[in-house]
This record gives sequence, C-alpha cells and structure tokens, in this order.
Amino acid sequence: MPRVAGYDYAIAGMGPAGVAAAYRLGRLGYRVVILEANPRPAVKPCGWGVPDAEWLPAPIPRGSVVARIRRARLLVDGSEAIRIEGWLSGYIVDKPDFLEELAAQAGAEVTYRAPLLPHRGEARIPGRGLVRLDPSRSLAAVGNAYYPGEKIFALEYEVRLPEGCADPEELLIDFDTRLVGYYWLFPAPGGLFQVGLGGYADPQSLRGRLDRWVRRLPCRAEPATRPRGAPIAVGGLRLSSLAGIPVAGESAGFVLPLTGEGIRPSMASGAAAAGALASGGDPLEAQKAIPAARAVAAQRRVLERVRRMEPGERASLLASIPPRVHAEVALGSLRKAVILRELSRRPRLALRLLRLLGFSE
Ligand SMILES: Cc1cc2nc3c(=O)[nH]c(=O)nc-3n(C[C@H](O)[C@H](O)[C@H](O)COP(=O)(O)OP(=O)(O)OC[C@H]3O[C@@H](n4cnc5c(N)ncnc54)[C@H](O)[C@@H]3O)c2cc1C
Repeated sequence: MPRVAGYDYAIAGMGPAGVAAAYRLGRLGYRVVILEANPRPAVKPCGWGVPDAEWLPAPIPRGSVVARIRRARLLVDGSEAIRIEGWLSGYIVDKPDFLEELAAQAGAEVTYRAPLLPHRGEARIPGRGLVRLDPSRSLAAVGNAYYPGEKIFALEYEVRLPEGCADPEELLIDFDTRLVGYYWLFPAPGGLFQVGLGGYADPQSLRGRLDRWVRRLPCRAEPATRPRGAPIAVGGLRLSSLAGIPVAGESAGFVLPLTGEGIRPSMASGAAAAGALASGGDPLEAQKAIPAARAVAAQRRVLERVRRMEPGERASLLASIPPRVHAEVALGSLRKAVILRELSRRPRLALRLLRLLGFSE
C-alpha cells in the first residue's frame, strides 16, 4: 500500500490530537505530514483553556500563551458556591500559534486544503490528487464530525468588559442545573474575555440563554466577535477506524463529558495512538489503556447519573463537593486517596462519589 510519498506517516487533522500525534512521531525521528482539510488551523470555536495538569504529551509553547490561569470561581445557578485558589494552574492559548508551533517542533510538514475522504481511505492532496493512505502509517484525528456517539452543542463569543470588571487570571464557571451545562467567562486574546455556554439544548436556545446570562454580568459586556458554536462529543469513547485508518482525539470520544475539556485528552490520545503506530502496536488498544480513557469513562458515568437527577439535587450535589474533589473529578485525575481525604468527615458522600466514578470499593 503506498504511503504519502516522501513521508513515513500521514496524520489527517491539524487539531490538538493531530499535532500531538505528529509531535510524538517527529520526536522519534520520523517524517510526518499533517493533512488538514481547512485552509488554516483552529477554525472550530473553542475556549482554548488548557489545565497545567497530567497527560499533556508535549510542552505548551510559551509563545502561544495568551493568559495564565491561577484561580477559578464556580457558581451554581448564578450563586457563588466554590472558590479554587492557590493550587490551580492553567493556560489560555492562542489557537493557531499553539498548533503551528507544536507542528513545527515536530518537524512535520503541514498541507492545508487536503481532506481525508474518510470512507474511501484516500486524501485529496493539492498538487498530488487522490492518494490512498496506508492504515498502518496513518491516523484520522479529524474531530467531532466523525464521532458516532452523543454530542451536545456549545457556543462562544468574545466580549469587551470595563477595566477591573473581570479577573484576567480567573476562570468563571456557572453551572445551570436545569440545562445540565454551564456558562463560562474565560480570558481571551487582546484583553478581551470569552463567554460561552454548552449543554443539553438546541443551538438557538443556548444562544438566548447565553445572551441573557451575559446581560446579568456585574458590568456591561460589549460583544466583540460573533457567536460561533460547534458540537462536542460527550458520549464516551468510540474507538474505531475510518476505512481502516484508526481514529484518535475527539473523533474517538476523547473529551471529558462533564466539562467538555477536549484538548488535553485528545492530545494524550493522539500521542498514544502515534506511539503504537511507531512500535507496531494497535493504536486503538493503546488509546484504551491511557489514564485519559478511564477519566472519560468515569465522567460519562457521572453525567448519566446527573442527568437523571432533579435540578435541586444537582445543585446541592455540586455545592456540597469540596474544591479539591471538584478538581479531581473535573480534571480527571480521580485519585481515590485525595477524594477520601477531602471527604473524610462525610463518608456517605465519599462512598457515593467513588461509586459514581466507578471505583469498585
Ligand atoms: C465552543 C467550544 C469551546 C471549547 N472549549 C474548550 C476548552 O476551553 N478547553 C478544552 O480542552 N476543550 C474545549 N473544547 C473542546 C475542544 O475544542 C476539542 O475537544 C478538541 O479541539 C478536540 O481536538 P481534536 O484534535 O480531536 O479535534 P479538532 O480540534 O476538531 O481538530 C480536528 C481537525 O481535523 C480537521 N478535519 C476535519 N475533517 C477533516 C478531514 N476529512 N480531513 C482532514 N482534516 C479534517 C479539522 O479542520 C480540524 O482542524 C471546546 C469545544 C467547543 C465547541
């Protein structure tokens, strides 16, 4: 089966999963081409919040950091519930810079306007025409469009806020317990802030809710960009192949279903799949074995249970969980010892949570 001439491996999709795969292969000394359908990277909207936490298979390029996150404030239905300060760390990155820099560090060649035709196993490459990809030397990291499981919708836009109105080092999350979803206010490039909402409702209704939420902010927010939205895969892992080419990243369900965080898990999945390709292993099995896979499964279980609860029960559960336990669940670290220590005075809640998260004892 022909490879893309001149390269050892071809990665379809220049999202976080694709660049992480390219990074892993590039570091192993292979020649990699990334085939991206769009004319530029990072077309899909995203909050581009990346926690400084485990699983990241490549360093965050310093030049791509737009804001450093040091705190978070969690609200439940508009009322302040939890403050996280002193030990939380993360970044807001500039989307194209982040991806381009990692691809460059991988030494990968990027070809834009080069879609993988997923059901044919071929890519249409400018100047080369249709090229069949060798499934043992390719990955499909092509995002949510090829994910067959449950998706919700999320949308965002940027706003200008008066000086001092919002903290540029803080993530603000406001859970909407009737919707099963949350609003966010994140720092964004150019001194702006991003507002967003993801949850179980149609795009139009999400838009109305988000606008109303923005109007309730303590200061007047002036929209600076148009709202943009996209689906998010929240149905858990679906490890499969497209015309024999193994999938990775959000295409395979590597998004944490409760939080919608997909950059870190997708990068971990892309790197694991690439490592398996290079060592002659099975890229799908390799992805199943990573800690991010367990976290996706655990959050999916919690999401299913939370969806069956009444809004009041959801609200009291969210507000009753201590900050460190929130972080263990939200970031997917799921350290049993930390959860037990934090909830040592509330053994029933500890037991309930551990069961929800899939711990057998
Ligand atoms: C509004 C919103 C906000 C979000 N905010 C955050 C956040 O703050 N933090 C976070 O961690 N996650 C966030 N997410 C989720 C995150 O954006 C994704 O989970 C993550 O980008 C998935 O990475 P990926 O590489 O698997 O897929 P993608 O980032 O979707 O990349 C896939 C790439 O493949 C390309 N492609 C598609 N089809 C083809 C084809 N046929 N051939 C070749 N290329 C193709 C696409 O153009 C794209 O460049 C958000 C999502 C949304 C919708």
